[in-house]
Amino acid sequence: MAQDTVFSKIVRREIPSDILYQDDLVTAFRDINPRAPSHVLIVPNREIPTVNDIENDDEAALGRMFTVARKLAKQEGLQDDGYRLVVNCNAYGGQDVYHLHMHLVGGRPLGPMML
Ligand code: 5GP
Repeated sequence: MAQDTVFSKIVRREIPSDILYQDDLVTAFRDINPRAPSHVLIVPNREIPTVNDIENDDEAALGRMFTVARKLAKQEGLQDDGYRLVVNCNAYGGQDVYHLHMHLVGGRPLGPMML
């Protein structure tokens, strides 16, 4: 069984967070330490630790993450100026929370992606 991360507790609403969207597959909530005017995290409800742990049965949830990103980008007023979607994997990728998540970041010019 996967570890019980802070994001699983948010999905189950056991700890407070600013949830913007939730359905049977995914949950989206504001990042506690926003790096831009809009910084939302979109997670599968199932605790998939990293991209390396994705299974074929997760494809519906992963697709839903993009659909929700598109809807929330519009809701946040980001769609015309643009925004960035980021998924970090493991230590070199800068992943801190081992529950797969997509960052939706926008509201200011983000510049070139740092590599
Ligand atoms: P990572 O570096 O793993 O890709 O990103 C983890 C993100 O989760 C960070 O941007 C961090 O600010 C955010 N985060 C960590 N703990 C919490 C929390 O308890 N609540 C919320 N809303 N965001 C969190």
